[in-house]
Amino acid sequence: MISSEQEAPIPIDYKRLFEGVRDFRTNEFIPRQQFFEELGQQQKPHTLFIGCSDSRVVPHLITQTFAGELFVIRNIANLVPYYKKHSDTYLATTSVIEYAVKQMNVNNIIVCGHSNCGGCAALYQDKELRHLPHTKKWLELALPVKEIVEEKIAKNKITLQQRSLFTEQINVVEQVNHLMKYPYIRKRVKEGTLMIMGWYYHIDKGEIYNYNKKKRRFIRVE
Ligand SMILES: [Zn+2]
Repeated sequence: MISSEQEAPIPIDYKRLFEGVRDFRTNEFIPRQQFFEELGQQQKPHTLFIGCSDSRVVPHLITQTFAGELFVIRNIANLVPYYKKHSDTYLATTSVIEYAVKQMNVNNIIVCGHSNCGGCAALYQDKELRHLPHTKKWLELALPVKEIVEEKIAKNKITLQQRSLFTEQINVVEQVNHLMKYPYIRKRVKEGTLMIMGWYYHIDKGEIYNYNKKKRRFIRVE
């Protein structure tokens, strides 16, 4: 044991995590041991879920899916980098997209935005981002979304009060558009072997809205 570890203050919440591990063993793993043994041999996820890192957005909870079903990317503001054939940036996200589609052959991709998104709000908070240089750089990917929303406000198409909602929802549509620029994704969508969905999760209402491309609006999943 390193002495500095012993001296470090122990966060109170850590016990909660160990209790969770014990509960997982007792309540989830042991009753389904055979399932987990088979799952341990291989995965065959049907869906790539691209969501925000926000602690309140829990992909398996809101889709009621289980281990092995979702291949997941979570980053601040559920962003999809622009497609580049050769790139050495944003690989943590683009490699997962590539692997999910080309290697895991998923059937669906969901881009899921959500209400009260801190990442989307930060687009309008330059001052607060000064001490978060990595976050600021990452969020540059969403600057075109901010421009679209600010133009709508300038033209009185939406009010300032609607800014958050529109930023969060337009952001989802934009990221779906980015996905369609990936040649291997576009090809599979055209073949009809891959479906891309843009979702909006309203946390305090427990509602999910799916973007309808024809109607150009989000429609609640009943
Ligand atoms: Zn968020």
